[in-house]
Amino acid sequence: MHPLSRLACALLLAAPLFASAQVGKIGTADKSDPAEACTDFDAYANGQWLATTELPPDRARIGSFDALRVANDRLLETGLAELAANPARQTTPGLKLLAAQYRAGMDSAAIERRGLSAVQPWLARIDKAERAALPALIGEMARLQVAAPLAVFVGTDAKDATRHALLLSQAGLGLPDRDDYFGSDDNSRKLQAAYRVYAERLLKAAGAPADAATLDALMAFEKELAQASMTRVQRRDPNATYNVMTPASLKLQAPGFDWAGWLQAYAGLGERQMLIVGQPGFATGLAALAEQAPLDTWRTYLRVRALDAVAEFGPQPVASAYFDFYSGAIRGLKAAPPRVEQVILMVGGRTGGSPLGETLGEVFVDKAFSPLAQQRALAMVADIKTAMQRRIDNLTWMSAPTKALAQAKLAAMTVKIGGPETWKTYEGLALQPDDFAGNQLKIAAWHTAQRLAELKKPVDRSRWNTSPHIVNAFAAGGNQIVFPAGILQPPFFDEKADDASNYGGIGMVIGHEITHHFDDRGRQFDAVGNLRDWWQPADAAAYKARADRVAALYSSFEPVPGVRINGRQTLGENISDLAGVQIAYDGLQIALQRQRQSEKSAGKPATLVNGRTPEQRFFLSHATIWRGKYRTEALVDQLRTGQHSPGRWRILGPLSNIPAFAQAFSCKPGDAMVAGEPIVVW
Ligand SMILES: [Zn+2]
Repeated sequence: MHPLSRLACALLLAAPLFASAQVGKIGTADKSDPAEACTDFDAYANGQWLATTELPPDRARIGSFDALRVANDRLLETGLAELAANPARQTTPGLKLLAAQYRAGMDSAAIERRGLSAVQPWLARIDKAERAALPALIGEMARLQVAAPLAVFVGTDAKDATRHALLLSQAGLGLPDRDDYFGSDDNSRKLQAAYRVYAERLLKAAGAPADAATLDALMAFEKELAQASMTRVQRRDPNATYNVMTPASLKLQAPGFDWAGWLQAYAGLGERQMLIVGQPGFATGLAALAEQAPLDTWRTYLRVRALDAVAEFGPQPVASAYFDFYSGAIRGLKAAPPRVEQVILMVGGRTGGSPLGETLGEVFVDKAFSPLAQQRALAMVADIKTAMQRRIDNLTWMSAPTKALAQAKLAAMTVKIGGPETWKTYEGLALQPDDFAGNQLKIAAWHTAQRLAELKKPVDRSRWNTSPHIVNAFAAGGNQIVFPAGILQPPFFDEKADDASNYGGIGMVIGHEITHHFDDRGRQFDAVGNLRDWWQPADAAAYKARADRVAALYSSFEPVPGVRINGRQTLGENISDLAGVQIAYDGLQIALQRQRQSEKSAGKPATLVNGRTPEQRFFLSHATIWRGKYRTEALVDQLRTGQHSPGRWRILGPLSNIPAFAQAFSCKPGDAMVAGEPIVVW
């Protein structure tokens, strides 16, 4: 996912996490001690699973998301094998390209034979680059989506969602977070050492200098970049990261770097071209380095970035270095997952947003698209939107003018479910079935050219920016919510399950994504998705007071001794969980009421299944989808760099603040699962 993909809030950690566990049964409690429901609902609902599930060496985390991802990958694996073996099945341009890249990815002999040939021309240019050539080289590398260190891409203008704009963002750090360069704690030191080894292995594989002094200089160079970078919390402010500039104005504000030459190389555009600069301070820091850092250090840095871009797709020496750093050191994996899963992830990208990702969706939808799931999900969206509408009406802290605009925004929100109406045609892209890394760079360059050609065209709202096979959901720009076919599967959605389970599963996901457009960040965008303040000042202040309570609550959670959740970094997700569960619950009540009316059985006691009321099954379903077991490294990485709270806290945080939960399980004031003063944002 691009660093500036505004408002594309994924539901889950965007990292390659897998599981081999079976997809669990919805709405069953593993333990029957009723008291535990009120002291620790995660233990109550998932205790047996947590006690008996082992984390395999090739997984960073297991849970319902991961199990479903593996199940989806199994379907894709069959589909990909059929596709590659039968040219007659390659009926669309996308499927032809996918077949070629899948074969290339599975052909380890060809990958070894090709070596580093894909990146060799770039390494040769870096070897010869003089200081004056750096801006153009950086611009050209950005065409391959290599952020070294600038990420630049065509996105949506946050203040006019109908228009495209060139967005410029800080990037190009090798360590997971800017703070990692300054920490002297064990974790930071471990990551610094691991990155140094990774860079050394990449450089050696390419025959470039990799002595201690070279690596010291590289680390010092990146530390300067980190110093100029915003923190993750700062980057959540959509106004702070919206700075309209041009190469000409950057020349004044960030002197020392040939911004016009850089943009000419990236896009063939002139110095009057409007740019939206995410972090002007980063531009200034980069420009200072362009003038002052030793040329040899620049060359080392650019080599490492170029090699990093293809390492995963490359031969053993660089591929294993890549695995040891990203999967081993950062996420704690002990072994590599099956090759086909890796190839699916490399082709599709971690959130399904890679340019070729949609082709996996073509295969997936063919195997697993359920019109019934789509129909029922749409009905759930309608109920949950109605629930949100009623909650807005009933807010005691919001004035009528803000309420009217909030209602207008909710009414204008559009939904995408399943997959796109038409598949991309990939005109002008040709791939080789034996050049995995080379293809990857071709795909990136093709995508950049396509997007640049769209810069002056209006934004196409029907486009999918994520592949339908993904187990995730999104609150997308332009006031949209998106539910790929990949998540419309058990245990999130089961056409054989009752409403209680489905509202606690996919219903909660729907509530979460709706709320994203009303979380502390999303609320700053209006009904058409423009960044525009539509709030009465007193209402904004009242909202912030509630959001502050959410931040304080989650900052008090300590999933790993010494490592707490960052309540500010995860605020949007936590608000979306809190209200998301609540409106999904309200939506279930609307659905139950409708059923009771249609059965003419109003007043009949709630239907029990396995001795459970619908309300109990709703909350058990929620706990089932968020259960998870992590490697400590992966958990620490998520806590430090992620926007999402770990699964256990996505159960405990929201449910302890929802009075209907206490009611469903007869919890009493003073119980751990019952907040003294529940936080209600929406
Ligand atoms: Zn989210």
